[in-house]
Amino acid sequence: MASDSTTVSPVRPPQRILMAPGPTELPPTVIQALIAPLTGHKDPFFLSVMDDTARLLRQVFQTRNRTCLSLPGTGGAGMEAALTNLIQPGDTAVVCINGLFGERMAEIVRRCGGKAVTVTAPWGEPVDPDDVRRALRAERARVVMATHGETSTGIQQPLDEIGQAAREHDAMLVVDTVATLGGIRVVPDQWNCAICFSASQKCLSAPPGLAPITVSDDAMAYIRGRATPVQNWYFDLDFHDRYWFAEERAYHHTAPVLLTYALREAVRLVVEEGLDDRFARHKLHQKALTAGISALELDLFGNPTFRLPTVVAVRTPDAVDEARVRAELLNEFGVEIAGGLGAQAGKIWRIGVMGYSATQDNILLLLAGIETLLARQGYGNDTGAAVAAASSVYSAARGAAAAVAHTP
Ligand SMILES: *Cc1c(COP(=O)(O)O)cnc(C)c1O
Repeated sequence: MASDSTTVSPVRPPQRILMAPGPTELPPTVIQALIAPLTGHKDPFFLSVMDDTARLLRQVFQTRNRTCLSLPGTGGAGMEAALTNLIQPGDTAVVCINGLFGERMAEIVRRCGGKAVTVTAPWGEPVDPDDVRRALRAERARVVMATHGETSTGIQQPLDEIGQAAREHDAMLVVDTVATLGGIRVVPDQWNCAICFSASQKCLSAPPGLAPITVSDDAMAYIRGRATPVQNWYFDLDFHDRYWFAEERAYHHTAPVLLTYALREAVRLVVEEGLDDRFARHKLHQKALTAGISALELDLFGNPTFRLPTVVAVRTPDAVDEARVRAELLNEFGVEIAGGLGAQAGKIWRIGVMGYSATQDNILLLLAGIETLLARQGYGNDTGAAVAAASSVYSAARGAAAAVAHTP
């Protein structure tokens, strides 16, 4: 009797161009890392891979923290770990909310038995640091939480002042840099972060499944000294720290060995490119993309002063079926972008300008696709204006680079 499985053919995924805000495309050497020989999670070779990964992550986070590692799990695991380790039942946390991910943090605080004091801004705006200060004066808070790059809106949150306010009120700052690490400047030490976490699959361009995280020495001391043990055993950061850094490398979980090879290679590539050059590359492609979008007479979403280089949110025209454009973009051009979340569902597109996906080829193809598919629905005339506008941004950048190169 044949089992059902005999009728299932081997998995054969389509080749996509990934331009949603994660996951992003994988560099060839990251793919090679995924098919390298598997070792055990306590093999001396693998332990050295962990050591290298930690060292490289410290460079990418620009931190002096000893605790800098990757947790098994996606960005959400980093968020869960940060909050469950710092919040004990009865604690108050000030949560900055200007999009979906802030809302999720408040929900986790409540599930930890904590009180979430929310400081909100409309979607498309950053949170006002003065509002955070006011909340900290009114409430005795243990923790302050903010999202550096709100992927649901494409907005960048300034953090210096919020970090200062947290320090003045003796509260621990947690920052979500899932959409920004490896794409724009991320400086947890300067912000005075207790914990800063990210994810493997966005601007770092490793596969989804790992959450890079860094914890200050003071926050580690606080976690070790807690009166109540961390609610979820699996994410207790002291166990992870001991597996990564203690002499005995105490077993806590079977590390995702292949994913860790891949992350090591991905962060090695980030360091090899150079942080400043990488940030400049993200800005250049965002500039070209937004020039193309403007040439189509489409508006960007959100406050222009705070727009993220790594997530571009575009208002879709009322007369156009935006979901159909996205579906055709995927099926005919092989390009994936994302739609809006929450109240912005059906109203915006969210385009990732992230990591290995952020290339001139990809941006030009995406713009050509959008222009063609909008014209199919009667919006615009498909004159090639979007590609032309983006191309002129690229030529200007090449001209400027050549001028610098030729300066004696
Ligand atoms: C993607 C994202 C997350 C969640 O990460 P997952 O890997 O999907 O769990 C959290 N915060 C921000 C800002 C994100 O962009």
